[in-house]
Amino acid sequence: MKINFLSIFFMLFIISCTNGQSKIESNNDQGSESDKVIKTEAEWKAQLTPKEFNVLREKGTERAFTGKLNKEYGEGTYVCKGCQNPLFKSDTKFDSGSGWPSFFDFIKGNVAEHKDHSHGMNRVEVVCNRCNGHLGHVFTDGPKPTGLRYCINSVSLDFVED
Ligand SMILES: [Zn+2]
Repeated sequence: MKINFLSIFFMLFIISCTNGQSKIESNNDQGSESDKVIKTEAEWKAQLTPKEFNVLREKGTERAFTGKLNKEYGEGTYVCKGCQNPLFKSDTKFDSGSGWPSFFDFIKGNVAEHKDHSHGMNRVEVVCNRCNGHLGHVFTDGPKPTGLRYCINSVSLDFVED
């Protein structure tokens, strides 16, 4: 009798551990902000418009003053067009006059920077930290408090209002 009780207790213990395990796995399936999104070129082409594909996956640049989010000043969050990763908050957006959406800071951990020596220039490329999509470049002529200007293609972003 005692043995049976113990074995039932042991089985319950195993079941509860197993449940805990599957809970963790399903959380991972939903994806945290640090999870990478990796897709083939064909998958990106199917998901994005040709213009979005050119900028996000081929490091293209939209023409200045053509992006629909250039003059967006509502309150909300700018997310990656490729993977919906939240990248910039509206309270860090400013009008740089450049013709591209400009921010002086990004949402911590969600944007990565790489040295870019293309086109004979020394620039710093800005990419989404989750899907590695090209966003734009960062320059050091921005306003306080950071002094940085994240010059971002509108087509790389979606705006989610608060
Ligand atoms: Zn992304």
